[in-house]
Amino acid sequence: MASKEYLQSMHKSTRAIHAGGLEHTVYGEVSVPIFQSSTFAFPSSEEGAARFSGEQPGYIYTRLGNPTVHALEENVAALENGFGGMATATGMAAIGTVLLSFLRQQDHILTSDCLYGPTLVMIDKELSRFGITSTLVNTSELPNIKQAIRPETRMVFIETPANPTMNITDIEGAAEIAHQHGALLVVDNTFASPYLQRPLDHGADVVVHSLTKFINGHSDVVGGMIIAKDETLYKKIRHSLNLWGGTMDPHQAWLILRGVRTLPLRIEKAQQNALELADFLSHHPKVTWVNYPGLPAHPQYEIAKKQMDGFGAMLCFGVKGGLEGGRIVMNNVQLITLAVSLGGVDSLIEHPASMTHASVSRKEREEAGILDELVRLAVGCEDFADLRDDLDQALNKIR
Ligand SMILES: *Cc1c(COP(=O)(O)O)cnc(C)c1O
Repeated sequence: MASKEYLQSMHKSTRAIHAGGLEHTVYGEVSVPIFQSSTFAFPSSEEGAARFSGEQPGYIYTRLGNPTVHALEENVAALENGFGGMATATGMAAIGTVLLSFLRQQDHILTSDCLYGPTLVMIDKELSRFGITSTLVNTSELPNIKQAIRPETRMVFIETPANPTMNITDIEGAAEIAHQHGALLVVDNTFASPYLQRPLDHGADVVVHSLTKFINGHSDVVGGMIIAKDETLYKKIRHSLNLWGGTMDPHQAWLILRGVRTLPLRIEKAQQNALELADFLSHHPKVTWVNYPGLPAHPQYEIAKKQMDGFGAMLCFGVKGGLEGGRIVMNNVQLITLAVSLGGVDSLIEHPASMTHASVSRKEREEAGILDELVRLAVGCEDFADLRDDLDQALNKIR
């Protein structure tokens, strides 16, 4: 097996395949086995004590660490150029753990006004119960961050590209402002995946992922990951994760390890489809606008070019006929599946105003850029022509 150092000098596709192989195989196995064991025997009471104190490596109990889960942690940490990864039961468990690791009463957190819905609710409604205040701003404009940051701001939390508007935030700029004020920058990198964007290289302190999406890539498992920039942050988060207990199961880790091996191939194909679909939609008579970071018309196109290796497989667009137009497209697609989530080999479509964000008032939706006519498309790996034709026939149902 290639050493960690040797692998880190390899290109990212090679790392996706080889990082997180087991360093000590049992039979020379090539695929990482599923170590489905909740606990691990100690050779002696002395060695048990040494494992607990951290003087000796070795597993103790699966909530605290497991070889299969560790293989996945090594893999994603290598892709993100981080010090270490911590796998969690879901993406929300990753986000919740990071918030609970650092924030305390009277702290303030600054976030994008456009975030994955449950993240917004967690920050706005759950953290406030613990006396932690938050401010939501459009972080695509760095002056907004500068203006809203306070002495008690402990964390700046961004998502880029953001769900569902595809707004981009300048990671380097956000990190600079956060650090000037002694705050941490946490980036939800789910939409880009480490294959296209590595926020730690741009100054972020912690990255979180919903592995459910691109990294697993097959719409069949949920999971999350936290990647820390350095050992100090890693230890602090690991301590919280072990206590709050939102850790990953070995079987779940094994499935995601199988998925991540093809991340580069899937992203390349889905991204090519997305670019061609963005172009096709831009010229469609029933489409009012398209937001895809790879179109020069995207308001943050230059920032996307600077911090991403590619523009990804997520896009959103406006349809004629507003709310009703969106409903018509949802109810007429045949190949593209009407479902939330993203990042799988299968293309998914959703209409936030009538689905995920239906409970949010129109005014609040519009303030966050979620217009009635906005349709979100998570592009998969099907043949481009089939996706194009399906969208075309569904759009043409709008009168
Ligand atoms: C899905 C998602 C999450 C939450 O992840 P789960 O695995 O569903 O818990 C967080 N952030 C983003 C951007 C997501 O797309």
